[in-house]
Amino acid sequence: MAYSAFRIALEAIRGHAGWSPVWRDATPRAEYDVIVIGGGGHGLATAYYLAKAFGVARVAVLEKGWLGGGNVGRNTTIIRSNYLLDANEPFYEFSLKLWEGLSRELNYNAMVSQRGVLNLYHSDAQRDAFVRRGNAMLLHGADAELLDTEGVRELAPFLNFENARFPVKGGLLQRRGGTARHDAVAWGYARGASRLGIDIVQNCEVTGFRLKEGRCVGVETTRGPIAARTVGCAVAGSSSRLMGLAGLRLPLESHVLQAFVTEGLKPCVPGVITFGAGHFYVSQSDKGGLVFGGDIDGYNSYAQRGNLPVVEDVCEGGMALMPMIGRAKVLRMWGGNVDMSMDGSPIIDRTPVDGLFLNGGWCYGGFKATPASGWCFAHLLATGEPHPLAARYRLGRFLTGDLIDEKGMGAQPNLH
Ligand SMILES: Cc1cc2nc3c(=O)[nH]c(=O)nc-3n(C[C@H](O)[C@H](O)[C@H](O)COP(=O)(O)OP(=O)(O)OC[C@H]3O[C@@H](n4cnc5c(N)ncnc54)[C@H](O)[C@@H]3O)c2cc1C
Repeated sequence: MAYSAFRIALEAIRGHAGWSPVWRDATPRAEYDVIVIGGGGHGLATAYYLAKAFGVARVAVLEKGWLGGGNVGRNTTIIRSNYLLDANEPFYEFSLKLWEGLSRELNYNAMVSQRGVLNLYHSDAQRDAFVRRGNAMLLHGADAELLDTEGVRELAPFLNFENARFPVKGGLLQRRGGTARHDAVAWGYARGASRLGIDIVQNCEVTGFRLKEGRCVGVETTRGPIAARTVGCAVAGSSSRLMGLAGLRLPLESHVLQAFVTEGLKPCVPGVITFGAGHFYVSQSDKGGLVFGGDIDGYNSYAQRGNLPVVEDVCEGGMALMPMIGRAKVLRMWGGNVDMSMDGSPIIDRTPVDGLFLNGGWCYGGFKATPASGWCFAHLLATGEPHPLAARYRLGRFLTGDLIDEKGMGAQPNLH
């Protein structure tokens, strides 16, 4: 069923009796060409592009819980392509271009809102680093603008500009950045994939891999064994646990990242704003809630909930940046389980086990990558070759030292 204004009017007249389920809840078959493990954004986007762009439709997405129950439904929805390094910027810019046409592509409103992403700077050295990053963005065809204090004041007069310790000196603005509705992204890709014949199987946990002469030939699941020529894993914070079932140890740590939303307020925050002197970022949802977050909890965990010291730290960051936030009541907070890589950049690659492929290491920034990650992983699964835009996201780089350390933090996952 295609969605349109005409369809809404028709259904309104018919008492909304004609809507069909958004996707087909499939029963797993005995065999597929490709199995994608993980029904998050990346897994669903991979399945969609496998069928749409590469003509591979005998595909199943296996999800242990429900679609949107992982990070894709827990993140703070920020999309942007404001990276410095050559290995990253073209990939994220490709992703942003896919976001720009996503609702039309999927015939599903992903609520992509290019309201701008503003990274604040508070010192001369930070400004110089942002100038460099902005130039790198421009060289790769992205948009970037450097604002001074007055430029920021025009956009966000409520910030604490005169904070003695962290005066706001300006910001790097990407106007094409913004937000998208996170669970609509999962539902939209699921619907698109399902319409192309892909089986989406919920409540189906992969509990093991079927290996034959060193090759992966299928998976064991809570709903029985399923054979496949190619198996791709896109399970975010569960990557190390899942790959452990195939005897692989990954250069990843799983950490908790928390997010917060306040009661609904009148429109006051124009776009996404990040605090350059601490780790705090905020935007306002279409319902009016201030959505914000900060650092990861900083200890290894597979939990989807966090602890109070980070809550305090995030609130301190918020108060330092925009004291008015102290008047807002927090409505909800939650945690997600993120797969932090050793250099802060992702992995889209084959593994040492033939037929088994990995998409992971997205840290706390993989939502914005969803379309490009799906596209590039589908390319890898369909052709066996890495997509040129993801050519540096290799698993072996941690052995060879060809790291993609966007922040220059070294091998300390909790700092990326
Ligand atoms: C609080 C928070 C805020 C964030 N904010 C942002 C942001 O603003 N911008 C941004 O770009 N990124 C952000 N991120 C990161 C982003 O959400 C993730 O990088 C991205 O969603 C991960 O990819 P995914 O959507 O495929 O993951 P998920 O949605 O987690 O999908 C993985 C799926 O695999 C399933 N799974 C696990 N094990 C198995 C198994 N054995 N068998 C079957 N299924 C299994 C899980 O149930 C899950 O549904 C944030 C993350 C969190 C937690």
